[in-house]
Amino acid sequence: MFARFLKTVPACTTCGLRLDDHQADDFPAYIVILALGHILVPLMIEVNSALSIPLGWQALIWPTLAIGLAVAMIQPVKGAVIAVQWSRRMAGFR
Ligand SMILES: [Zn+2]
Repeated sequence: MFARFLKTVPACTTCGLRLDDHQADDFPAYIVILALGHILVPLMIEVNSALSIPLGWQALIWPTLAIGLAVAMIQPVKGAVIAVQWSRRMAGFR
């Protein structure tokens, strides 16, 4: 489905479905930000109440974790957004 990290192939190599007309736009990024906020903020609160990690380490740990999880999540989420658009015949799949 993806030619590069977030760039879709022009068409499916198996069935020929055109994928270059999808209009996922920024919606995958919004979903990742919303999901990560709901995962990381409670985790930060729980970790801070259970452990006493120095602020310098936390300044390294949390942004690294946020970036790593965002990079890991964005491609599957974009694929899911495109799949929902295809299944509902939305945007470029009319
Ligand atoms: Zn296909």
